[in-house]
Amino acid sequence: AAMRHLPYFCRGEVVKGFGRGSKELGIPTANFSDQVVESFPSDISTGVYYGWACVGNGDVHKMVLSVGWNPFYKNIKKSVETHIIHTFKEDFYGEILSVVIIGYIRSEKNFSSLEALISAIQEDIEEAKRQLDLPEHLKLKEDNFFHLPEGKPVNH
Ligand code: ADP
Ligand code: MG
Repeated sequence: AAMRHLPYFCRGEVVKGFGRGSKELGIPTANFSDQVVESFPSDISTGVYYGWACVGNGDVHKMVLSVGWNPFYKNIKKSVETHIIHTFKEDFYGEILSVVIIGYIRSEKNFSSLEALISAIQEDIEEAKRQLDLPEHLKLKEDNFFHLPEGKPVNH
């Protein structure tokens, strides 16, 4: 069920998240708006995915993306958050984030400590980097999707 919709192309505005302190952990996650999340296939599995991302018409970078349960809505709605594997000089709230979600890494888990959570995410990032260097995944980095005018959000 996780793979059925992949690769999945999605574009939308970056909004304020839940302030869970991802940035303080060194792993900021750019959150999509509810509207974008609602446009996702309703049966997409929660968990961690890898793919490509770009902000506005900037460069395309590797990313890890999590689909999780949204605490704002008592965990009955999903949230979609992207950690771009790149160091940005500034925040980019309000900008348009384009992503292509390519593969599934793992399901959502509960961690016994913050250290365990951080090291799991670091492993996810390493796995994403390795996967995305494969020729079949590298070619999606060059996809026309990333060169389209950013005016209209598209989901398909
Ligand atoms: P929030 O709870 O508002 O989502 P985070 O701590 O998750 O706060 O930080 C996310 C914000 O950090 C993004 O919306 C973006 O503006 C900024 N940011 C800076 N660098 C990155 C990055 N490499 N990946 C994702 N977001 C980043
Ligand atoms: Mg976030």
